[in-house]
Amino acid sequence: MKSEYDTIAALATPLSTAGIGIIRVSGDESVSLVDKIYKGRATLTSYEPNTINYGHIVDTNGDTVDEVLVSVFRAPHSYTGEDSVEINCHGGIYVLKKVLDLVYSTGIRPAEKGEFSKRAFLNGRMDLSEAESVMDLVSAGSQSSYKNSIRQLSGFLSKKVKKIRSEIIHEAAFVEAALDDPEHYDLDGFDEKFEINLNLWIDQIKNLIDSYHQGSLIRDGINTVISGRPNVGKSSLLNFLSGHEKAIVTDIPGTTRDMIEERVSLGDVVLNLVDTAGIRKTDDTVESIGVQKAIDAQSEADLNLYLIDSSSSLNEEDKKFLKDFDPASTVVLLNKSDLDTNVDSDTIHQFFNGKVVIFSTKTGEGYDDLKLAINDLFFNGGLDKDRFYITNEDNYNNLCEAMKSLNLVKRSIADGMSEDFFTSDLYDAYRSLGYIIGEEVEEDLVNKIFSDFCMGK
Ligand code: GDP
Repeated sequence: MKSEYDTIAALATPLSTAGIGIIRVSGDESVSLVDKIYKGRATLTSYEPNTINYGHIVDTNGDTVDEVLVSVFRAPHSYTGEDSVEINCHGGIYVLKKVLDLVYSTGIRPAEKGEFSKRAFLNGRMDLSEAESVMDLVSAGSQSSYKNSIRQLSGFLSKKVKKIRSEIIHEAAFVEAALDDPEHYDLDGFDEKFEINLNLWIDQIKNLIDSYHQGSLIRDGINTVISGRPNVGKSSLLNFLSGHEKAIVTDIPGTTRDMIEERVSLGDVVLNLVDTAGIRKTDDTVESIGVQKAIDAQSEADLNLYLIDSSSSLNEEDKKFLKDFDPASTVVLLNKSDLDTNVDSDTIHQFFNGKVVIFSTKTGEGYDDLKLAINDLFFNGGLDKDRFYITNEDNYNNLCEAMKSLNLVKRSIADGMSEDFFTSDLYDAYRSLGYIIGEEVEEDLVNKIFSDFCMGK
């Protein structure tokens, strides 16, 4: 039976050939159990807490498996808040696996996904929003997503939420006190002053809520479809952006049979690219499946990169598509600008009132303009490096709930309701905000969040 109190272990670094690999062990028995496979100048249990100790990991025959540095942490001064050991091994898949197997052979069990961070949370080492940002950090695909997670880890969101909560509870307590003891606490003129605070809370929460859409684009990437007639350069664009040959590029129309997915970073943002089979009518069944998928993908995408071969001319199909595209989610690329051009931006603008970029996958012309166009469409010109973006759906939902409750309070005041009427809405807002930092959080929610984590974190 697994228990929350078992001593657990997992690899804290990727299983790959690297300089070092770290195995993290946590739980009451971590030091004594790892001691069984450790040989150094003394036993691990005799070392001072927070020390790094040289030694060897040995197998059952006493043969050395790896030369290591072992850190010993004692509760509560560790990542999880429990006794912990970190074994710094030589990176290398074979060695790491062997040491990990030896660790498990002592009776330590493999950690579940997110279990280290769950323990850190349960032991009060980090609050929920900080713990969640560990997960975002682990899966951060771009520089901006990474920075945002760091900002959250440093407690930006919790501080903000805690401040609003403490102000809410202060006001609610005053109302309660005044209702209980009207002789000493006077509610005359309370509403006017209170409404100023209320509006400030609503503004701050709204700001966080508004950042969510952009936050998800930062974290998950912008789902991007590359579309256009056959041979306009869709596969070439995908290859150009991803920096390696993934799609087959040929001169024969219709060679990209299926959709290819790729994550590429473009400056500060990540694009999840889907190359399409070229939207056109076709009798070829294999290809027609690709075309249907492409049409589906396009309607679900955040961004549509529509390519036109500027050395040829627009046909009726292009014109129809251009008229249909939503300028808020489309960038038209006039590709092959290195050749003699037949189509220019003015021609496109007769049909499409959005962003047009002159591009060449051969020379790289237009790459910076494409980045600018995407930043304009999704981030009002560019990512605000100092802004904090909400990236977690649960946080977003809780902020929306809090906002709803505060708006009810606002309505009660406008309707001239008495103070005792709206305190329950104030408490609701307080509670919803509490979920963000893990106060009054239900058990299954905790489990859900931590099971989303990566091993060793
Ligand atoms: P797709 O059918 O839209 O995926 O088009 P491909 O990427 O397979 O490209 C079709 C042809 O156009 C290939 O011969 C490419 O080398 C060529 N091509 C693509 N982009 C450019 C470009 O920017 N300039 C020039 N001169 N040729 C290009």
